Amino acid sequence: MDSLDRLIDGYANYYTRYFQGDSELHAKLAEGQNPQVLVIACSDSRVDPALITRAKEGDLFIIRNVANVVPPYEPDGHLHGVSAAIEFAVCHLKVKHIVVKGHSGCGGIQALIRGIEGEDQFISTWVSVLKEAKQRAVASRNTLEEICTFCEYEGIKVSLKNLETFPFIKNRVDDGQLNLHGWYFNLADGSLLKLDPKTGDFVGIFA
Ligand SMILES: [Zn+2]
Repeated sequence: MDSLDRLIDGYANYYTRYFQGDSELHAKLAEGQNPQVLVIACSDSRVDPALITRAKEGDLFIIRNVANVVPPYEPDGHLHGVSAAIEFAVCHLKVKHIVVKGHSGCGGIQALIRGIEGEDQFISTWVSVLKEAKQRAVASRNTLEEICTFCEYEGIKVSLKNLETFPFIKNRVDDGQLNLHGWYFNLADGSLLKLDPKTGDFVGIFA
């Protein structure tokens, strides 16, 4: 079956089973959204935050981009799609949690570490937001695989740090209205790790 036909089939299944199956929820969602959680995840096809958390429609406000990058606060009048979505989630939807979710085998991180072959008008510039993570990874790890994995972890920390450069986030975090989290999804074994802010380590979420 053609890949688009599979999607249409999937939609038909969703419509009958979920949309019609929970008409109360969908009537409510048609009136508006009230998600409590903003997830910033990679665009990678294998790491859909809603799928791996079994979230329902309306649960998650999601930003996806190459390497789950949060750029720093730059109110310069330029086009800042990620910052606009963050502002909407925090200031208008008033989410209570922001999760930056990275993953293993991230192509964006590989592009940051070893460069990219072929067309690259935007990718290298975008992932260079995480250059500090690259520096730490290169300085402390040896093999390419180790460097990339460490950089995936450190990249989450850089994005979390950049979140706090937005005054409307810093204020809410300081007031206890907003909580920031780092998660890491390992594609090899399906484990989900979370950042322990005290130690800086990523630990199993069921550990
Ligand atoms: Zn990725």
